[in-house]
Amino acid sequence: MHFVSTRHAAPPATLSAAIAAGLAPDGGLYVPEHRSQARQWQGQGQGQGQGSLVADAAAVLAPFFAGDALASHLPALCEQAFDFPAPLRALSTPGDHVLELFHGPTAAFKDFGARFLAASLARLQGGRDRPLTIVVATSGDTGAAVAAAFHRQPGIRVVVLYPDGRVSPRQAHQLGCFGDNIHALRVAGSFDDCQAMVKQALGDRELQARVPLSSANSISLGRWLPQMSYYAHAALTHHAAHGQHLNLVIPTGNLGNAMAAVLARAMGLPIGQIALATNANDVLPRFFQGEAYRPRHSVPTLANAMDVGAPSNFERLRWLHADDDDALRAGFRTAAVDDAAIRELITRRHASAGELFCPHTATAVKLLEQLRGEGVQGDWAVAATAHPAKFESVVEPLIGRAIEVPPALAALLQRPAHAEPCPPHYAALREFLLA
Ligand SMILES: *Cc1c(COP(=O)(O)O)cnc(C)c1O
Repeated sequence: MHFVSTRHAAPPATLSAAIAAGLAPDGGLYVPEHRSQARQWQGQGQGQGQGSLVADAAAVLAPFFAGDALASHLPALCEQAFDFPAPLRALSTPGDHVLELFHGPTAAFKDFGARFLAASLARLQGGRDRPLTIVVATSGDTGAAVAAAFHRQPGIRVVVLYPDGRVSPRQAHQLGCFGDNIHALRVAGSFDDCQAMVKQALGDRELQARVPLSSANSISLGRWLPQMSYYAHAALTHHAAHGQHLNLVIPTGNLGNAMAAVLARAMGLPIGQIALATNANDVLPRFFQGEAYRPRHSVPTLANAMDVGAPSNFERLRWLHADDDDALRAGFRTAAVDDAAIRELITRRHASAGELFCPHTATAVKLLEQLRGEGVQGDWAVAATAHPAKFESVVEPLIGRAIEVPPALAALLQRPAHAEPCPPHYAALREFLLA
């Protein structure tokens, strides 16, 4: 399969080339060359579902890898990247589930995509003599997942920029604790400053002639496509056991995780409705209620990994719906959940059912409660995107007790952490990259 840009001004690229590039040269996002190519699951057997996460991942990704140099590596890539589970667990309310995506090394779903990208780039980068520097701006979770995935990978250096004081204490610790080939820069500015600095570096040809650069942000095909795997596995397993499609509620920021579910459904996997929950950054809910699509500055919330004012994967959503916004609007339920509602939900569900959610997951649980209140039927799963222990400074005061830390996260928190201070100017980043 070949891939083209959502902005139609870049030549078709192979999968390997698209993964290596990240962003298409015209600034768009890579998508399959023909929209109909998304519908490829039929014929490979709806009857699957006895498979493991790794087997289902390889099956769902195979059409996208067909004919590419990475195709023969696909089973090994899946085995290497998905070596932790994504269990579907029942909640106390009948028919409701959580799909736990936080059992990876940094306790958030981004571990899946970051590890798959790292495994892919390791194979694509093999044999190059000059090291590749991956620069990534993070509002918290992306940087840690990318750092963990590339830690001690030969031929790769990672530089992570994060807004000093605006990530949770444990997020900050995770970013600074790797060392070796991972460099954390705590920037005296906002996430937008960090992102602008990274964009400037990626567009600086003179710099790139001396320091080969790449990025690992959520629009990269190498992170986006593999996120289909856990939805495919959960839906196939659920369908095999209950004969029912699985409906999904997904906490959404840049729309990458949700777009992976949308693509998996388009392929023909047994996924029913998909509902999108945001925090107070309500660009998407406004669009789905009929307003024009209008990006705006993000506001800080308790669900900081979703503080996005211009969801980058919206271009992919429009592409899949042939740029027909009315058809697009008809297909999704959305809601914006503000900080007060996040707090209320976390507190109440813990008190009534002993259930614990991170602030991101809480937005989706809230939307599911609203849907049930309207009488919506069927089996639903909320994508639980991070472990609540990662956001202990939000969750613990609400529930009045300490949260047990999962072993992988505990191991990271025991390491010493160090981040370099960095002023919010491109010149400072450039100097660091050249040093
Ligand atoms: C990144 C992130 C999200 C948002 O995912 P998108 O793909 O950007 O929509 C939600 N929850 C958590 C915990 C995250 O880290």
